[in-house]
Amino acid sequence: MLEEREEKFLSPYAQLSSQTRGRVVPEEECSIRPAFQHDRDRLVHSKSFRRLKDKTQVFLTPAGDHYRTRLTHTLEVSQIARTLAKALSLNEDLTEAIALGHDLGHTPFGHAGEEILKQISPDGFHHSVQSLRVVDLLEKDGRGLNLTFEVRDGILKHSKGKGELLSDDPEDMPATYEGRLVRLADVIAYINHDIDDALRAGLISLSDIPPDCRDRLGETHSQRINTMVRNILERAMGTAPLKLGLSHGVLEATLKLREFLYERVYDLPEVHGDFIKAAKIVRELYLHFLRNEAEFDQEAGEAFIHGSLERRIVDFIAGMTDRYAFRLFEKLFLPQPWIIV
Ligand code: MG
Repeated sequence: MLEEREEKFLSPYAQLSSQTRGRVVPEEECSIRPAFQHDRDRLVHSKSFRRLKDKTQVFLTPAGDHYRTRLTHTLEVSQIARTLAKALSLNEDLTEAIALGHDLGHTPFGHAGEEILKQISPDGFHHSVQSLRVVDLLEKDGRGLNLTFEVRDGILKHSKGKGELLSDDPEDMPATYEGRLVRLADVIAYINHDIDDALRAGLISLSDIPPDCRDRLGETHSQRINTMVRNILERAMGTAPLKLGLSHGVLEATLKLREFLYERVYDLPEVHGDFIKAAKIVRELYLHFLRNEAEFDQEAGEAFIHGSLERRIVDFIAGMTDRYAFRLFEKLFLPQPWIIV
């Protein structure tokens, strides 16, 4: 009945659950939930999803209650992407599943952790590739979640770094419109909430935000999100094939805002100084385990069995929360206070 409802009410551009390209290991589908809804539930129940709550977005292990973490970022992405999907009659369950899984591969300490793993891992490192590794291999004690092709594809291809929001290169683009929405929603979410957090931290003030960005996008956090979301919808309405993206003016202002963030927030000494310390923790943990394989096996447990020792250590470290990495560093490298009296 739910699959039929999709066929009846969703747009011709929607990915129907009944038309999924399926799972790597075929399994009998759930009798209550269509495939993407089932995938969404698997992600919510996963351990890596719960660990997002203690992973840095921009501000390292913030003491303030109101800064974003990787988990609240993920929820904001999901929220924005679902709003878009629903308005465009695309598959909301697929959109949500991709959004909830997209950042599972993020390291502790945000981009500091990612940068250092990129440098020291022989296989390189990218969080979107790692996100796919998490759902394919690492979750469920090394067995993986066996998600559908469309969710895995959207997770792998969500990231654009400083590059194009949506590119013309089909290799680089998600196979589904739902995947493309998540890519857009990710940018909308982080640009806006990182500005909000930077204001909260007192790193910038409202008047620092470039005036033409404020004119074009709005004066407040919610106005700016609203402008971007509406712009995507207005531009998409009635297009065939469906055209997703921001119009020239709004895109320009959005990219300028992103540029502003890189210059005024991400590269700021107050932010960057802690990144250097965090990168040192990641590097020390990596080198320590490389020299002490038995200790690694004992510490990491059973989920990290895929690939070379270097690869397994990277998987273990990438999965850590900020807090866990701190504690492990303390345990391994700092004298422990003698607690028993
Ligand atoms: Mg993200």
